[in-house]
Amino acid sequence: MPSYFLFFLGLTLIAGLGFVTPIGGGDMPVVISLLNSLSGIAAAFAGLLLLNNVLIVAGSLVGASGLILTVIMAKAMNRTIGNILFVGYASATQSSGKVEQGEVKPISAEDAYLILENASSVLIVPGYGMAVAQAQHVVREMGELLEENGTEVKYGIHPVAGRMPGHMNVLLAEANVSYDLLAEPDDVNPAMDSVDVAIVIGANDVVNPSATEEEGSPIYGMPIIEVHNAKTVFVLKRSMSSGFAGVQNPLFFRENTRMLFGDAKESIGLVVSEFKD
Ligand code: NDP
Repeated sequence: MPSYFLFFLGLTLIAGLGFVTPIGGGDMPVVISLLNSLSGIAAAFAGLLLLNNVLIVAGSLVGASGLILTVIMAKAMNRTIGNILFVGYASATQSSGKVEQGEVKPISAEDAYLILENASSVLIVPGYGMAVAQAQHVVREMGELLEENGTEVKYGIHPVAGRMPGHMNVLLAEANVSYDLLAEPDDVNPAMDSVDVAIVIGANDVVNPSATEEEGSPIYGMPIIEVHNAKTVFVLKRSMSSGFAGVQNPLFFRENTRMLFGDAKESIGLVVSEFKD
């Protein structure tokens, strides 16, 4: 009996690794959600075998809600579940993208403030780095100061920004950012060229133009917030390192992009103190 158990344990380990490894970084949230849902279904089946009603009900709930979330996320990513699960095998041999060359233009918090002070519309795009820096409160403060200055402020929320579904919504709600100010990619992208400044706060993959421009990139096909079409883009991060998907971001080298290097909370704190001086 234990040898059967060990055999199937080994087999499922190999199957799990073989199944997940070829899947691109941008698709991983959908896969995580699907695997969560499958764990619920497995629990429900275990409940059937053990004649345990609690296990059946709890497993079915996890399985059903996980499946609904998976379908919603796949829809938001503009992909079918079959395409997400199996396209990795077809594209595994394709190159994951050229090394982007170009000039990176850093900016100081003081200079960023001078540009922001004169902006009439600002789009804030938060990502995983905002969560790491715990910068949501100071981001809300900056948003309020901008609004007091007569600037129209919106928050562009990507469905897979951060590391869990709804991550950015939760953080911004915690900081009391009004829900009315949050907008989805489809709402902000068409009017992006009228945005004076897009402030990218610790986001990387969700604003990577390779997703729409570079066939063969692991994130190709993932919808993004197209901040590169704004008049000016500030990217707040600590270094030039890549995000979750591990791919270079050509946005950082664009003519209209300025890099504000440093911890997001500290950088925005400096901008906020400039506003208050
Ligand atoms: P990314 O992971 O693409 O990028 C986060 C960036 O934040 C990094 O480039 C990092 O750069 C920067 N950062 C980290 N710490 C700080 C800090 N203290 N201050 C400032 N910047 C910081 O995040 P995105 O939100 O853009 O994209 C999410 C990614 O995660 C997507 O690829 C998505 O598919 C994936 N994912 C999402 C899940 C979900 O359910 N939402 C679940 C699983 C995966 P640096 O180190 O230079 O500072």
